[in-house]
Amino acid sequence: YCVTDPGAGSDVAGIKTKAEKKGDEYVINGQKMWITNGGKASWYFLLARTDPDPKAPASKAFTGFIVEANSPGIQIGRKKMNMGQRCSDTRGIVFEDVRVPKENVLIAEGAGFKITMGASDKTRPPVAAGAVGLAKRALDEATKYALERKTFGKPIVEHQAVSFMLAEMAMKVELARMAYQRAVWEVNAGRRSTYYAFIAKAFAGDVANQVATDAVQIFGGNGFNTEYPVEKLMTVAKIYQV
Ligand SMILES: Cc1cc2nc3c(=O)[nH]c(=O)nc-3n(C[C@H](O)[C@H](O)[C@H](O)COP(=O)(O)OP(=O)(O)OC[C@H]3O[C@@H](n4cnc5c(N)ncnc54)[C@H](O)[C@@H]3O)c2cc1C
Repeated sequence: YCVTDPGAGSDVAGIKTKAEKKGDEYVINGQKMWITNGGKASWYFLLARTDPDPKAPASKAFTGFIVEANSPGIQIGRKKMNMGQRCSDTRGIVFEDVRVPKENVLIAEGAGFKITMGASDKTRPPVAAGAVGLAKRALDEATKYALERKTFGKPIVEHQAVSFMLAEMAMKVELARMAYQRAVWEVNAGRRSTYYAFIAKAFAGDVANQVATDAVQIFGGNGFNTEYPVEKLMTVAKIYQV
């Protein structure tokens, strides 16, 4: 899924990768960044600007292409070493005079921005679900630890400061789960779900970070150590907010 350029991520309409029609082909030039599975995929979805007029509206200026990953002119960069999710293959990809037949245009020239934004309805809720799974694991680990670890003569779960924290964590996990289920409900009903999909992703991403950070706190010094699971959960959580 090649949308992000080095100079534009959230600002999708700011991408500079361009495609020019020449006869029955399009010639693509530009650079993509942070492409998940960039070194594994056999073909890419690529978003490029096809209308060079800077005043052209985003809804008409961009086109989505299917591009064979082994096309001449494609240079795949080295795997990035990220803060978390280290198994995930994330790379920069350079496109230099890459020729794509016009049949590889998705829907029609100019439809790319809508395709890209529309994809979010179905791709944001599973991302939110991943964030909820991470938060639930952090809650479970912290609860187990709080029942076992003793300070001042009793398990730390019996100190209200800790049990209140666990209660807050549980509330957040349950609400984030309901948020992505609502978004998926809309998709299953055949309705546009952009509103719910983005609420679910933004909320669950925040919840994953808050709950993982609280879990590290409940583990005390052990939480800061790689021998316990919550340290990894805290670093992996960050990507869900990016
Ligand atoms: C591990 C990983 C995998 C990825 N996989 C893919 C992939 O497969 N395909 C793909 O196309 N992209 C992928 N991305 C890119 C990802 O979509 C972008 O990183 C993301 O959209 C943010 O864009 P950016 O990094 O350019 O940050 P920027 O857009 O430069 O944002 C920088 C900061 O400014 C904030 N900001 C930006 N605009 C505003 C605004 N209007 N108001 C307030 N705050 C604002 C942002 O929230 C952020 O905090 C991946 C990124 C990572 C890290």
